[in-house]
Amino acid sequence: MTAHATDRSGTADGTAEARALAREWTAPPTTSLRWTPGARLTGIDPRSTPGWEGGKAGATALVAAHAPELSELQERLFAEGRSGGSRSMLLVLQGLDTAGKGGIVRHVVGLVDPQGVMHRSFGVPTAEEKAHGYLWRIRNALPRPGYIGVFDRSHYEQVLVVRVEGLEPRAEWEAHYDEMNAFEAEVAASGTRIVKVALVISRDEQKARLAERLERPDKHWKYNPGDIDTRLRWDDYVAAYQDMLDRTSTEVAPWHVVPADRKWFARLAVSELLLDALRSFDLGWPEADFDVEAEKRRLAAT
Ligand code: ATP
Repeated sequence: MTAHATDRSGTADGTAEARALAREWTAPPTTSLRWTPGARLTGIDPRSTPGWEGGKAGATALVAAHAPELSELQERLFAEGRSGGSRSMLLVLQGLDTAGKGGIVRHVVGLVDPQGVMHRSFGVPTAEEKAHGYLWRIRNALPRPGYIGVFDRSHYEQVLVVRVEGLEPRAEWEAHYDEMNAFEAEVAASGTRIVKVALVISRDEQKARLAERLERPDKHWKYNPGDIDTRLRWDDYVAAYQDMLDRTSTEVAPWHVVPADRKWFARLAVSELLLDALRSFDLGWPEADFDVEAEKRRLAAT
């Protein structure tokens, strides 16, 4: 690897404006949103904004103020990958229907160069996917070195919808928690920093968002009649999410639970978690593997 942690000017802490806005965090999101195994999911208020005192306007302003740094760090990661580095990032997004996964992708991941993003959403497995183990399609979608991978739903559906809908016997899905922990440990050891986010909305907010999809012709395409069936099993999903959080929040891949009734907070929280992960890489720019002065002379002579 040829990357060096040099020339970090202008990116280390973002701009003065960003630093001022970031003071509205009374506790860093990496700790205030990190899941504590054993905590009660039903004890989390989906309208709350844990650790954030800056309100909606401050949140929107901070996302915008941190965008240049987020974008530059992504470019550094990409450059490192092009120069033989092995590191990458993986953002795993889970949440019930209408929780705002798509909005996070558009408004947060959309702040960086799409060429450096490997986005994948996981729906009902295809016939080909079903012929393999459930991790097969996941492995195939892992980010290559230098990339930010984004999973809209993920292997965790295997302990959510599969469990709730009884698509596998209990003994099978029960085994998945440990399998997933082992899988993620392997992925992390290969250089991928994993950021797992569970978006939490309230029943009332989901109803309002589904109603809007039915009211507005421009949103009909987002409506899926099956969402009502899922909604009817709300308590079963909450129980499945509780177990997922308790059993798969590990040191290398902890879950962050993000209250998502307020879209502006969810977007702020995820952008800050991404930024923190990228900062932790302490990314420099790769050194040129050619003689810069000689190349300048060659160019001047043309
Ligand atoms: P979304 O609801 O995420 O906005 P969508 O309505 O466009 O997406 P798809 O992305 O095509 O639908 O598929 C999502 C659906 O696939 C969800 O209902 C999810 O529960 C289901 N799904 C995902 N993984 C699995 C799996 N391993 N087994 C069964 N169903 C799955």
